[in-house]
Amino acid sequence: NKQVVLKWFVVGAPTEKDMEVREGTATLKAPTGSGGLVVKNLYLSCDPYMRGRMRESYSSYIPPFQPGNVIEGFGVAKVVDSDNPNFSAGDYVTGHTGWEEYSLITRTESLRKVEKNDIPLSFHVGLLGMPGFTAYAGFYEVCAPKKGDYVFVSAASGAVGQLVGQLAKLHGCYVVGSAGSKQKVQLLKDKLGFDEAFNYKEESDLNAALERYFPEGIDIYFDNVGGAMLDAALLNMKVHGRVAVCGMVSQHSYTDSEGIHNMYALVRKRIRVEGFLQSDYLHLYPKFLDCVSNYYREGKIIYLEDIAEGLENGPSAFVGLFSGKNVGKQVVCVARE
Ligand code: NDP
Repeated sequence: NKQVVLKWFVVGAPTEKDMEVREGTATLKAPTGSGGLVVKNLYLSCDPYMRGRMRESYSSYIPPFQPGNVIEGFGVAKVVDSDNPNFSAGDYVTGHTGWEEYSLITRTESLRKVEKNDIPLSFHVGLLGMPGFTAYAGFYEVCAPKKGDYVFVSAASGAVGQLVGQLAKLHGCYVVGSAGSKQKVQLLKDKLGFDEAFNYKEESDLNAALERYFPEGIDIYFDNVGGAMLDAALLNMKVHGRVAVCGMVSQHSYTDSEGIHNMYALVRKRIRVEGFLQSDYLHLYPKFLDCVSNYYREGKIIYLEDIAEGLENGPSAFVGLFSGKNVGKQVVCVARE
């Protein structure tokens, strides 16, 4: 049972050395009376929030990872053995699992069954999983979008950003995305249907870049990165603009966050800035699944994935999120079936 284990609590930017791939033992039978499942993990999700769980002082609704223990995250798996009446061997499930080939899951609340059909199984940790839902809840519930709005999305080619942009286009908005490479900028414009896109790493002045793409200002900024981009966006918001603060991937490795200097813009332009967590909107999940699966089946949206083959490539795939190595949703394929 190959496993990915955290070696120590991480300070600063995560590196592959912070994790170790080791051979452990597998339990292939769910203990009687445990209500648990043994699953074979197929696809594992690399998500920026997992960096938080590598910090000793992490405080959230889930505890930090512990050095020496297997890392956990969202995944898609096949049930091998079940002591739970809601699941049977052969079912496909998605939810919290371990970064290992086989996992014994005793806390099954987060698991739900998924069908193997025309939608790729891996999409259940991307388009139809937590990141897709984050895009859906953040855009429709926090951004208060209107047809014709000028929308800016950062980390726009990533797991969340690419869906935000496409939902905004379907809503009749004008959409500009920022991303960290030429290839990503090209994908945003050619494949994902963004009106414009730019490589923020090539811009010496982010404020000037945003002025160029939004001469009349921004109605909605969907912020995935925080830091200097958020600061520049505040200067370019329209009166009564909305900023949905989804995440601050540029700040994950900082012990202290960078300061924001342009707060006075909030007053002058009456901007609404709202942080949100997708977990506050879970009542909308069925509606989201319906809406986004239909858009996908109708060919109205596409979804880019970056699949690392093999659990042993999990650590580098995860670490790559923080330097923008991933092109699309980063997934680790442990096994296809
Ligand atoms: P992505 O797939 O977008 O991967 C992370 C991307 O962030 C990288 O590809 C890179 O893209 C960009 N990035 C990395 N470092 C920096 C940096 N220093 N400055 C600017 N950009 C950087 O990840 P997700 O779509 O899964 O997550 C996007 C954001 O959404 C994260 O902040 C995450 O924490 C947040 N999130 C929030 C949730 C919520 O409930 N609020 C739920 C899920 C995610 P590039 O090449 O463009 O730089």
